[in-house]
Amino acid sequence: MATSYRVPFVDPRKHYQRIKSEVDSAISDTLAAGDLVLRRQLADFERRLAEYVGTKYAVGVASGYHALHLSLLALGVGPGHEVITVGHTFVATVSAIIHAGASPVLVSVGEDYNMDVEALAEAISERTRAIIPVHLNGRLCAMDRLQALARQHGIAIIEDAAQALGASFHDRMAGSFGSAGCFSFYPFKALGGIGDGGAVTTDDPVLARTVTLLRFNGEDRETAELHAHGYTASLDNVNAATLDVKLRHLPRWIEHRRALAKRYRAALSGVGDLRLPHFDGTTHVDSFQNYVIRTSRREALREHLFDEGIETLVHWPKPMWEHKALGLDDPRLPETERICREVLSLPMNAELTPEQVDIVTSSIQEFFAQS
Ligand SMILES: *Cc1c(COP(=O)(O)O)cnc(C)c1O
Repeated sequence: MATSYRVPFVDPRKHYQRIKSEVDSAISDTLAAGDLVLRRQLADFERRLAEYVGTKYAVGVASGYHALHLSLLALGVGPGHEVITVGHTFVATVSAIIHAGASPVLVSVGEDYNMDVEALAEAISERTRAIIPVHLNGRLCAMDRLQALARQHGIAIIEDAAQALGASFHDRMAGSFGSAGCFSFYPFKALGGIGDGGAVTTDDPVLARTVTLLRFNGEDRETAELHAHGYTASLDNVNAATLDVKLRHLPRWIEHRRALAKRYRAALSGVGDLRLPHFDGTTHVDSFQNYVIRTSRREALREHLFDEGIETLVHWPKPMWEHKALGLDDPRLPETERICREVLSLPMNAELTPEQVDIVTSSIQEFFAQS
């Protein structure tokens, strides 16, 4: 079935074909020059990424997970500290906290799937050392209220912006609000690499330097002095060269996603019991990493779409704490549990056509009309 979807969730082959010549030259030029590890192409990409996000620095790392983990370490987060994040996120957000030696405190999300600021306020304790708001699906959290709270309590913010490169709030880009912004270039993110990759953005020269040391086994490459027990976690140079090519296209790809989101919205408003994602408002520009709808009949709808040749995904089918091996306490977040039962991610990517969106929306209308 996977190869015969009429509307696949993502289409990596089509994505490559449309930029093939540029990507091929970036890769072959980089390989021909023997530029494999921490070379000019990485520095160029980091400079351009920082400029795009609006920070002084960007440091390429091996993944979004590493961006989070190294940011926590660079801020001195460790054993005895609590880090507040949301229960409704990708597991890597929480694994980074655990691997830093700190305790995750999971709070609820609001209607837009982002951190509930009141829940955050209640969760702050003497031991809270950092907050990780997650800008889910390409929509920013209420950063004004989050920053006010963090400032009042003297707590650092690390943004999990893995799904939000190019999205903004009050004209400021994701990744430019916190002490650190964490990005992922996992192949199916809006800016996807040829394998795993990530970056930390920051205005803080000390944080940028610490992450730069930690990603390369703690070594200062100029002096060979080892400053810490670090990690082998830099962003591959060949990957950086392709990301640099793709970053130039990203603004147009995001415009395309936004146009598709509008099309979904126009066709699906008022259909069945569907709840559709927010669209902008006066404060946000959303990048639509995912287009997530909500319905009490999720499983039946998903099956219907599958039968119609439409691929959908569920982010995520059960709350993290129900995966017993993770050893997480049940944070008692009934709304997050409901979300896990009700959300469905529809096809959304830069290669998706308006006609494919129409196939999806007609199938959904048909499903709700039949029953
Ligand atoms: C993708 C993602 C990550 C982790 O990124 P990787 O590059 O896969 O390690 C972290 N948080 C969120 C919200 C993500 O979507």
